[in-house]
Amino acid sequence: MTDVSGDAYDLLIIGAGPTGLFAAYYAGFRGLSMAVIDSLPEPGGQVTAMYPEKMIYDVGGFPEIRGRDLVDGLVKQAAPWKPKYLLGRKAEKLETLENGVEVTLDGGETLRAGAVLITAGIGEFTPRPLPAGDGWLGRGMVHFVPSFDAHAGQHVVIVGGGDSAFDWVLALHPVAASVTLVHRRAKFRAAESIVRQARELGVRIITDAEVTRFVEDSSGALEAVDVSAKGAGEERLPANAVVAALGFTADLGPIESWGLEIDHRAIPVDSTMATARARVYAAGDVAAYRGKVKLIATGFGEAATAVNNIAVLLDPDAHLFPGHSSNAE
Ligand SMILES: Cc1cc2nc3c(=O)[nH]c(=O)nc-3n(C[C@H](O)[C@H](O)[C@H](O)COP(=O)(O)OP(=O)(O)OC[C@H]3O[C@@H](n4cnc5c(N)ncnc54)[C@H](O)[C@@H]3O)c2cc1C
Repeated sequence: MTDVSGDAYDLLIIGAGPTGLFAAYYAGFRGLSMAVIDSLPEPGGQVTAMYPEKMIYDVGGFPEIRGRDLVDGLVKQAAPWKPKYLLGRKAEKLETLENGVEVTLDGGETLRAGAVLITAGIGEFTPRPLPAGDGWLGRGMVHFVPSFDAHAGQHVVIVGGGDSAFDWVLALHPVAASVTLVHRRAKFRAAESIVRQARELGVRIITDAEVTRFVEDSSGALEAVDVSAKGAGEERLPANAVVAALGFTADLGPIESWGLEIDHRAIPVDSTMATARARVYAAGDVAAYRGKVKLIATGFGEAATAVNNIAVLLDPDAHLFPGHSSNAE
């Protein structure tokens, strides 16, 4: 290996979406130590943020797989190599050093590595805010539902009218004490079939309505929300949890100031997935080249290409071809 002494890892992976997670597996397979940084609190990128309950039909080897299960599988596949996950941490700065790279996190902490692989997808996600829930994030309000068990027996109010709002409705209906959907319009962005399924289950759907207030009990825990519906006045609904599923905005954010070439919100790469800057690679949705198709399957292939080329960068005596995993012990 190239001398990267003093550096904390061989490889820093920025983004724990499907591409970054598969890159972590491949880095381990190539004997590289790695950290995976993501500003989201959970791994899985767009899959976790936008469609964890949807079936995916175009991942090789799986005729169909639920988004959440694909992410679980990727995390499990990388686990033997013990990736260091830095979740809920944003990569703010990237500097190229003589012998490696340095990434600074939002908390000011700096990490060093021999190379960096940017798998930042469409960028950092910021959930659209629910104004009445200001100050309630983590105290009863969530934007994701990482575990259904956490909501077993709870009264859950879901706010939003898109596919993910209805995905949560269907997923939580069997475990929660009650599920109510509140949407500020009469029409939904969600697919008609999923709205129909929710109605058939008897889920209460309140339209043309807004959550106006979060109500706490004597211990400060969330116990209800006030909902104001056009023409129907105000109503208090029992609520132990509110899922604010109003969508996300995505933005490359700090990456745009790292001095990399950016074209249409993506980073141009060559056939080794190298960017124009030494020791900086990109793969997945964030990587651009002629003919690029933004899919999970493509990201997986690009992750393998990037990591195998990084392995050679870090150790010029290493083979580019990793050998077949089927021959590994
Ligand atoms: C509704 C929907 C349905 C889809 N269905 C399919 C499908 O059926 N089949 C398919 O192949 N594809 C599908 N896609 C596309 C697929 O999800 C993407 O191609 C895939 O998620 C790209 O993976 P990625 O790892 O490259 O990026 P992402 O999944 O976008 O992950 C990037 C991660 O990087 C993190 N990040 C970004 N910037 C920073 C930073 N500065 N610091 C720290 N973290 C950062 C983000 O938080 C994010 O978690 C779908 C997309 C959507 C929205």
